[in-house]
This record gives sequence, C-alpha cells and structure tokens, in this order.
Amino acid sequence: RTVYVNGAYCPEEDARVSIFDRGFLFADAVYEVTTVLDGKLVDFDGHMARLGRSLEALTMTLPVSEDELLDIHRQLVTENALREGMIYLQLSRGAPGDRDFHFPDPEETRPTLILFTQEKAIVDSALAARGAKVAFVPDLRWGRVDIKTVQLLYPSMAKMEAEGKGADDAWLVKDGLVTEGSSNNAWIVTPEGTLVTRQLSHDILPGITRATVLRLARERQMKVEERAFTTEEALAAKEAFITSASSFVTPVISIDGHPIGEGEPGPVAKAMREIYIDEARKTAI
Ligand code: PMP
Repeated sequence: RTVYVNGAYCPEEDARVSIFDRGFLFADAVYEVTTVLDGKLVDFDGHMARLGRSLEALTMTLPVSEDELLDIHRQLVTENALREGMIYLQLSRGAPGDRDFHFPDPEETRPTLILFTQEKAIVDSALAARGAKVAFVPDLRWGRVDIKTVQLLYPSMAKMEAEGKGADDAWLVKDGLVTEGSSNNAWIVTPEGTLVTRQLSHDILPGITRATVLRLARERQMKVEERAFTTEEALAAKEAFITSASSFVTPVISIDGHPIGEGEPGPVAKAMREIYIDEARKTAI
C-alpha cells in the first residue's frame, strides 16, 4: 500500500511518525473516514466540513488547502487502485521535542497529517445482509464526542464488551437513553413507522451518513424525529438500523438478545440502504 505522510507518498513500511507525536501520547488528533465507491469519494464535502469543525474546536489548523486534500485522497485511490473501501485521514497537533501537556506553539510545531486507504466490500456486506446484533453498553466516553478525536479506547472496549455478549456492536446508553453506536449512529423505526435518531449535541458524533439519510428520508415524506429514545423504546421498536460511512445503512435485528420486529432486516432499513447506495453512487466525486 502507498500511504501519505506529511507531504510525501511512500510504501506503508517506510512511513514514520515521531514517538513524541501528540496523537500518540495524548490522543491530541482528529480523524475522518471517507468512503470510496467505484473509485470515487462519497460525501467528501461533508467529511471535510466536519474535519473543519473538529479542528476549530481544538484550535488546530490544516497544513494543506482543501483542494490539496482532495488531490491527496484521489492520488491514494489511484496509487492503490482502490475501487471500494475507505480513506482514513488523521491530523495531530504534531510532535514537539518532548512530552508536555501544554499545546506547542503552532509556529514551531507542524501538525502531522497522514492518510491511508483500506479496502472493504461495503455494498456487498455480509453483516448488512444478515443484520447486526447489538448490545447495550454504558456510554462512559468524555463529554465532547461531537469532536472526531482519535480517543477511541472506550468505543473499542464497548465493542469488545458487546462481542463478549454475542453481539456485533454496542449501542451506548447514557441516563437510560441511547446515544449512538460505538462507531455509528443509532436509529429506530417506531411501531407507528416514524424514523427516530438522537438530536445533535455534544453527546453524539454528527454523522455524515446520518445527515444524508435524514435528508433522503425527508425528501421521500417519511416521518422523521430527531430526539433521544430510551432503551425500552428501542427494544419495542419495529425496526432498527445503524449508519456510518463504512457501513452505509445496516439493519439491526436484535438488541441484548431480544429480536427487533421479526428478528430480520426490516423493510424500512433495507429500503433506506438501497436509497442511500443509489445516492452515494450518483453523488460521489
Ligand atoms: N458515531 C460515531 C461515534 C462514529 O465513530 C461514527 C463513524 N466515524 C459515526 C457516528 C458515523 O459517522 P459517519 O456517518 O460520518 O461515518
């Protein structure tokens, strides 16, 4: 694989980042994951807009222009002949010469920008065809999960805990309300047929896929509510699904071992997946 590190393309074995990098020592870094479909970038502008928001919240700045970022993404797709998968981008506050809690002077320390590609069959996903099983896990993350930082230890632990219970992923729960999945946004379809996903706040990541699915559902006059829902409401839902760049729309078939609806991918989730894939193919750049 060819990867990108601070202005240079190189084989992955040759890529180097300092041990003093603040991404490594302090999780002082943000990231984005953009899907590649048919060799094109899905929702690129949305991902770059969110990167801008994350950087602003952490007083970090991009070391390259947005046009250059697009070029880097496209160059990696070409170099790696990537047809379907993801591009991971990470930007850290850089590597001052020592470990220090203070942010380094941005005049003296350049941020570290790295990107790499990952192949993945996203359209033909076995998990989406079967439907995902999720398990409730307490949401013990920090209070600003709307910022897309690389502080992913707890989401990783939550996923392991869910897998330990025989599920595929976790649905995180705070004060009896579902926040989101470990790396995706959570949705239910109520018995009345309304799509519900939690409103934006500091408690969830503003998913780019979530935003697109909201728009597509509203354009089709489906009833949609952005509000928190309880674990009880989730268990009583007619359907459930998750959304993320790397899984699109994936039906959820059980929660904590209780089947949701018929215990198989529901019609609304399946339709939204198809609608989303059509839109992604049409609008990818
Ligand atoms: N929530 C969390 C916690 C995530 O990590 C992700 C994926 N990065 C999402 C939601 C989904 O966001 P997106 O649709 O932009 O991939």
